[in-house]
Amino acid sequence: MSARILSGTVIRDQIYAELAQEIAELKSIGVRPGLAAVLVGDDPASKIYVRSKIAACEQLGLGNVHLTPPANTTTAELLAIVRELNSRDDVDGILVQLPLPPQIEAKKILEAVDPAKDVDGFHPINIGRLVEERPTMVACTPLGVMEILRRSKIPVEGADAVVIGRSNIVGKPMALLLMHADATVTVCHSKTRDLRKFTREADILIAAAGRPALVVPEDVRPGATVIDVGTTRITDPRQAEKIFAHNPERLEKFRKNGSAVVGDVHPDVARVAGALTPVPGGVGPLTIAMLMSNTVKAARLRRGQRTPEAVTSSR
Ligand code: NAP
Repeated sequence: MSARILSGTVIRDQIYAELAQEIAELKSIGVRPGLAAVLVGDDPASKIYVRSKIAACEQLGLGNVHLTPPANTTTAELLAIVRELNSRDDVDGILVQLPLPPQIEAKKILEAVDPAKDVDGFHPINIGRLVEERPTMVACTPLGVMEILRRSKIPVEGADAVVIGRSNIVGKPMALLLMHADATVTVCHSKTRDLRKFTREADILIAAAGRPALVVPEDVRPGATVIDVGTTRITDPRQAEKIFAHNPERLEKFRKNGSAVVGDVHPDVARVAGALTPVPGGVGPLTIAMLMSNTVKAARLRRGQRTPEAVTSSR
């Protein structure tokens, strides 16, 4: 048996096509949704993430503002930047790329973002609304996972879902969204005593631990849907040999590049799972798609417009 591969790029393209229509409608009434991305310092991975978010804005014709304050920016200085963006009418969504340098109080910054412009869904008010299942901005990665499940017609209602990871930005909102979609949810983390005991029972297994190839075939119930959120760049050849033992092409590519991006799920899980998202090309493209979707949603909501269910559903 070999798992159905759930391509995030194909689903992203569907969402972009729907968003393009919405954006054209908004344009016809003189509205151009705009995203402001704030990247403090020059962390190479963050630079790549922000670049791809800006590129997505450009592809879809969204307005974008890209601010790059230096690594020694203070909390007060960043707060001033966020407040200015809060007050700008051409900015519908604000994203402050994490992680922030250690001298900056990240919580204060995230709380300063106007909840109506919080397209990352990190503001405590929006998290509270999510808990109560009220309309809100939801974190992009878990929202993207729900889109993958919905558009791939994976039944969620009544399913046993296991989430590995309990972070505020992935694991917790993921568990809430699955619960709101009527799955029975178990959340595992680094102190879980016997991870396999839980993962083997899952109809839907979401891995968001940031541990390369943590989930191996023996951890997965045959036929289960496995969603791999993890993205880690590995450089250790021995680790690559283990992960790509049955994948000579990817091992060759690793040797050529000296590194590879891998997920939390060992590629051999494809032999056991019923459906599996690849890394790269699975959840990652959806995270950016949902950021675009949230920006368009924020633009509509700020102007008192309803949002079409298709691209804004959190269920
Ligand atoms: P995080 O804040 O480091 O949280 C990781 C979570 O995994 C924690 O709850 C941790 O438990 C748990 N964990 C770590 N090792 C574990 C183990 N061996 N067994 C069980 N649980 C374990 O990371 P995050 O921000 O949630 O991100 C998770 C992964 O998703 C990372 O690889 C990240 O790069 C990736 N990610 C991808 C996208 C995308 O668009 N594809 C977006 C966001 C994040 P404790 O709470 O006990 O420490």
